[in-house]
Amino acid sequence: MSEASRPGRASASEPRTSGVSNAPRAVPPRFIVTDAGDEFFWRSGADGRLRFLGCGSCGRVHHPPVPRCPYCGSRDLAPRAVSGDAMVATFTVNHQPFMPGFEPPYVIAIVEIDDDPTIRLMTNIVGCAIEDVRIGMPVRVTFEENGEWFVPLFEPREGS
Ligand SMILES: [Zn+2]
Repeated sequence: MSEASRPGRASASEPRTSGVSNAPRAVPPRFIVTDAGDEFFWRSGADGRLRFLGCGSCGRVHHPPVPRCPYCGSRDLAPRAVSGDAMVATFTVNHQPFMPGFEPPYVIAIVEIDDDPTIRLMTNIVGCAIEDVRIGMPVRVTFEENGEWFVPLFEPREGS
């Protein structure tokens, strides 16, 4: 009996759930949708720096990127590196296996960026026990390389 005619287990369409595999994944671990103007954000971690669009007129940074500065209307905008420091504004612990490859439990957080706390990012907190995550906790960006993309995640800041 050939492989193709064997009943049952049609492997191609089934998600692969073997949790321990070092093989390159055909499906990226995180699904990234880039919009016009935010590609720089997802590539920024290539040199370990977090970047937002900065305004050459009023000096502020903003996120997500828009064609005109939301504060002064200038179009003089360019990616600008920030410190990468942030604070956990709120978080929840996910216990549901929503996506293959994301083994629960894990922390989904909103962090406020130190350079401009009006910028809030939804992210994961990594590098510590889930029980240690607190609102107000100082964190620093770290990047998960995902092919050509770099996903900003946050971990506890050393010495905090
Ligand atoms: Zn501006």
